[in-house]
Amino acid sequence: MSTYPDLHLYIDGEFRKTKRDLPVLNPATEEEIGRLPHADTGDLDDALAAAAHGFKAWSQTAPVDRANVLYRAAALMRERQEEIATAITAEHGKPLTQARLEVIRGCEFFEWDAGEATRTYGRVIPSAPGIRYSVHHQPIGTVAAFSPWNFPMSQPCRKVAGAVASGCSIILKASEETPAGALHIARALQDAGLPPGVLNLVFGTPAQISDHLIRDEQVRLVAFTGSTAVGRHLTTLAAQHMTPVLMELGGHAPVIVCEDTDVEAAAMSGAMRKMRNAGQVCTSPTRFFVHESIFDEYVEVFVRRAASTVVGNGTDPNVEMGPLANDRRITALTELVEDAREQGADLRTGGGRLGDKGYFFAPTVLVNVPESARVMQEEPFGPLAILNPVASLEEGIEKANSVPYGLAAYGFTNRADYADRMIEGIEAGNVSINTLEASLPETPFGGVKSSGYGREGGTEGLHNYMITKNISHSFKIV
Ligand code: NAD
Repeated sequence: MSTYPDLHLYIDGEFRKTKRDLPVLNPATEEEIGRLPHADTGDLDDALAAAAHGFKAWSQTAPVDRANVLYRAAALMRERQEEIATAITAEHGKPLTQARLEVIRGCEFFEWDAGEATRTYGRVIPSAPGIRYSVHHQPIGTVAAFSPWNFPMSQPCRKVAGAVASGCSIILKASEETPAGALHIARALQDAGLPPGVLNLVFGTPAQISDHLIRDEQVRLVAFTGSTAVGRHLTTLAAQHMTPVLMELGGHAPVIVCEDTDVEAAAMSGAMRKMRNAGQVCTSPTRFFVHESIFDEYVEVFVRRAASTVVGNGTDPNVEMGPLANDRRITALTELVEDAREQGADLRTGGGRLGDKGYFFAPTVLVNVPESARVMQEEPFGPLAILNPVASLEEGIEKANSVPYGLAAYGFTNRADYADRMIEGIEAGNVSINTLEASLPETPFGGVKSSGYGREGGTEGLHNYMITKNISHSFKIV
């Protein structure tokens, strides 16, 4: 695709190629669309050195000036929306309309954190005469950040915005499978006047890069979005150096559908949202617990809508769902479906790969899935929904809480008391009632339990990137 960018690392304000490069594939066609340079340890050491001087300069830059760089970069990315979205669709597969929205969401993360940069207030603590206690917030230092392949633009935007707004420097390892979004972020920030060294972008072998960066004493925060298994590994590495972490990990979102809800509307919304980004979303609604009195009707509408999802190349304007981003997901989903069926689940639509070119997978609905099936505990991270009946709201809440994850959870009801019981009782960082939206720039996003800790966005978002310093200032020596 002609608008797919020429891929580079970005270190100390310069785009760089390396001796080793590997192909980037289009998951709809399996064709090579670019070659991605991979960093060696020399490149990583250059990035660390650049981040050290980047931090010195940037941490001394006025918050309003930091904000203005982010606002300018966001404006440039808005101008370049079509070029960026086209590249994302080529490397990830999602429909162009969804890629366009993702670019705008990334810009909104920049704009929100730009505003927050100017509001990282400290406080003065009431104290005795002659002494003043106060609290200051300062940027934490160099951040090592790792962003995944499911949202090539908005995921790295979140981490870069947090670090740049706070006055940190950042070394970002974005996804090797979907590098174009991060590259466009680097371009926009360079064009917006970000000084060299503040943002450094690398690609390569993930384990080698994280190991090299996290071991370096200069790195003061590890920020990761991805699977719980990798998050746990990186947290263990960081713990050797007492380095704090920001972890946005997996989810297995429950949806409790109460008997008083509008069944048709709830089922339509569930089926459509499930297939967004081909289900490769950490907040994707997956375990639907539907009151038994409306179960049959809900299943009928849901299955009909899911089965009618238009699947194809994301460049086709009629397509609602593109391919999976890589062939690992095909294998994982196929195994989960087979296991569920062996345990007695009823496969109502989909269940396997579509065609033999491109990583297309059919929208899949499993009904009456036994608790023993692997998919009841393992996040499918694909276009797969589980529909199970429950006899009461209490049973729904108990089942919602029965996995190690706690990222997003959803409820459908018109009753305030039901809504309140879900809001109070569900163990999750985000609970949404009558909407399947869980994350906005202005709201704090993050998980509990094995879904990680720390928050991105909202007024909480910059906390991870800053230290809290307590000041005791006596006006004479005591
Ligand atoms: P994976 O567990 O191998 O990798 C997950 C992510 O971590 C990828 O982006 C990968 O590049 C990165 N990674 C892997 N090992 C790393 C290391 N040692 N250091 C630094 N980064 C490392 O699995 P995968 O096949 O790429 O993705 C599948 C699973 O990942 C899904 O089941 C899903 O649970 C999870 N995932 C979650 C999100 C999210 O938004 N929370 C995004 C993508 C993937």
